[in-house]
Amino acid sequence: MMAGIGTVAVIGAGVMGAAIAAHVANSGTRVLLFDIVPEGAANRNALAEGAVAKMLKADPAPFMGARATRLVETGNLEDDLSRLAEADWIIEAVIERLDIKQAIYRRIDAVRKPGSIVSSNTSTIPLATLVSGLPESFAQDFLVTHFFNPPRYMRLMELVTGPATRAEAAETIAEFADRRLGKTVVRAKDTPSFIGNRLGIYWLQTAVVEAAERGIPVEMADALIGKPFGIPKTGVFGLLDLVGLDLMPHVNASLAAALPQEDAFHAANRPLPVVQKMIAEGYTGRKGKGGFYRMGRDGGQKVKEAIDLATGAYAPARKPRSEAMEEAGRSPRALMAHDSAEGRYAAAVMGATLRYAAGLAGEVADSIADIDEAMCLGYGWKDGPFALMDRIGPDWLAKRLEAEGQTVPPILELARGRSFYRVEAGRLEQLGLDGAYHPVTRPEGVLLLSDIKLGAKPVLKNGSAAVWDIGDGVLCFEFTSKMNSMDDQILALLAKTLKLVEAKYKALVIHNEGTNFSVGANLGLAFFAANIAAWDQVEALVGLGQQTFQDMRRAPFPVVGAPSGMALGGGCEVLLHCDAVQAHAESYIGLVEVGVGLIPGWGGCTEMLHRWQKFGRLPKGPMPVPSKVFEILSTATVAKSAAEAKELLFLRPEDGITMNRARLLADAKARALAMVEGYVRPETRDYTLPGPSGLVAMEMAVQQFRKMGKATPYDEVVSGALAEVLSGGDTDPLDTLTETDLLKLERDRFFTLVKRPGTLDRIETMLMTGKPLRN
Ligand code: NAD
Repeated sequence: MMAGIGTVAVIGAGVMGAAIAAHVANSGTRVLLFDIVPEGAANRNALAEGAVAKMLKADPAPFMGARATRLVETGNLEDDLSRLAEADWIIEAVIERLDIKQAIYRRIDAVRKPGSIVSSNTSTIPLATLVSGLPESFAQDFLVTHFFNPPRYMRLMELVTGPATRAEAAETIAEFADRRLGKTVVRAKDTPSFIGNRLGIYWLQTAVVEAAERGIPVEMADALIGKPFGIPKTGVFGLLDLVGLDLMPHVNASLAAALPQEDAFHAANRPLPVVQKMIAEGYTGRKGKGGFYRMGRDGGQKVKEAIDLATGAYAPARKPRSEAMEEAGRSPRALMAHDSAEGRYAAAVMGATLRYAAGLAGEVADSIADIDEAMCLGYGWKDGPFALMDRIGPDWLAKRLEAEGQTVPPILELARGRSFYRVEAGRLEQLGLDGAYHPVTRPEGVLLLSDIKLGAKPVLKNGSAAVWDIGDGVLCFEFTSKMNSMDDQILALLAKTLKLVEAKYKALVIHNEGTNFSVGANLGLAFFAANIAAWDQVEALVGLGQQTFQDMRRAPFPVVGAPSGMALGGGCEVLLHCDAVQAHAESYIGLVEVGVGLIPGWGGCTEMLHRWQKFGRLPKGPMPVPSKVFEILSTATVAKSAAEAKELLFLRPEDGITMNRARLLADAKARALAMVEGYVRPETRDYTLPGPSGLVAMEMAVQQFRKMGKATPYDEVVSGALAEVLSGGDTDPLDTLTETDLLKLERDRFFTLVKRPGTLDRIETMLMTGKPLRN
């Protein structure tokens, strides 16, 4: 583990500093958060304290759980300066002004402990400029650690070192950021705005000026630049609204001032009168009166409006339709080649952006994979610019640039007739500026399913799942269905996999690299079966799920779940039946069945009762456990982090949390292997539940909610079925229920609900709109 970093200090409790402090606390590390003393303030810590208070209410939450909030200590730069000597790493995140930053460095240097590391979160100022005039001993301990906003959720951290920086200091921070903060650390060269923003700002600026000059409506521009290129559908205008338009002129001016005359950014940095006017009038984006988009009102209805870049007037946003997009489908090249205003716009923006990216190879980072990583993790692109050029075809792009009379950047020239990436002997390789291919390396200990797949075929596979050999006798079960929803095929393959592991392997890991681990059971299938009254099939599916999960839990080898993103409903129930879970810190786990008029039917109720019996620190007696589980399940509570999932017992106290997603599979595999020797399968369980008196108590609670207007009539029906299961049905507090009894009760009540029209209405609405019906 990290020996070096015990306490971190963050200076500047603004947007970035406060959220960086929260995220450092998320890693379990103590943090000091200091800001200036506001003039005439009664409370000298008002800025840092105010920032923490604001973060406790923010959504998405900067903190992962209650424990993290207690690790931040606030203070100010006058009274508490000497306390910086407690810190092993001091992060400066004050306003982007060189004079202010340098003045702070001098004050830090006077008090910090020898060997402590200092870094800046600057987004534009080169490191060489930041340390100029400061003592060599300071420069040796100094680096740039550039986090992206919001720091908890954006996985990129750019790390910049100078010629004087101690290699050990950089390694210590890289290691801490990777393992403890969960960041993908990309080493950037000391050039203006580093990697992500250098290209990102060029791309945004080009997209905005081209749209304004070509008369492309903003919603059309966002659609053209979004999905076809694997870019988030917020596109460019939506993203600028989010970031704040007022930042644009500052960022652009600072980049322009730092870049050499011949840089292509200067040509793109054309004035935008409409944006200037918007900023002047307070239309700065979501934080202002509105931005390129705003929520307007038509009568009582909220409507999304978009600005006309020519006139500055708002009108209801139209769903962008164009022949170009329809004909091009998923092909970015076909879109760029389309002979229409839309095609020409896409080609102008993305052609220029990709050319600029190619020109940055060697200048801003050591490898093209680093540039791709920065754009994927810093801007949410599905493919980085070089991977995107492979999709488009380097040859085609180069020819196009030539036809336009543009020079072709050297690396694009080298990629002609081949590609930027290739797979050689099962390993991913990237093109270098020397014209040769070099391996794409991963940090030590990183294991990615996508890398394994390059050199292997699945051990087992069907239409909804695949099984991979991840070495050392461990198999990995991967969901491959749409949105990783659970269906009969997954259950069938899982049953088969259990037999295979028992015969030939040591352990099983359940993991996938989707955005979400699993969003739950395939509702479409359930709805279809219910609609044709194929009740046997529905019953069979529920029974099969329960049986498979019980077999998995009782298998004579360890099964470890390794989720990231959402694990809801059936996706949560899989995890509940694993022998251990190693969860990505950003796992959102919950049993949300009541939202579609159901209750957990694959053992979720039974397992949650067991967990609260075993681990819940609740008062004695038959009532507190079912009440607690009822509270969690009847409100479809979803944990907003793995830490919170532990509080709710969707994860056990001893389950593991991995901060870095890229390390999740390796950690899960190690956990599974550690359990192999002397593994004993879990016992079956007994339950003591309150029976009808407990049911009455829970029902009264729901009636109370009804009166307060917090529960709908059908909520009462669904909660009633849930309460029956959790109270143990027609049992007596003196009786003991077996697991089998309780599972049967769970199945029966599920089945009663799934036949009711109210439930089918809820399922249908969810399928059609993605939102719950409050009937
Ligand atoms: P901010 O304006 O939200 O916060 C700046 C903080 O600096 C404020 O809390 C302010 O009180 C403090 N400050 C002002 N004068 C000071 C002084 N003389 N001494 C000490 N503190 C002082 O700014 P921010 O957006 O959090 O940016 C902070 C740094 O992070 C900047 O270098 C910025 O370029 C960089 N950055 C910002 C983002 C972003 O999206 N906002 C992203 C990456 C990096």
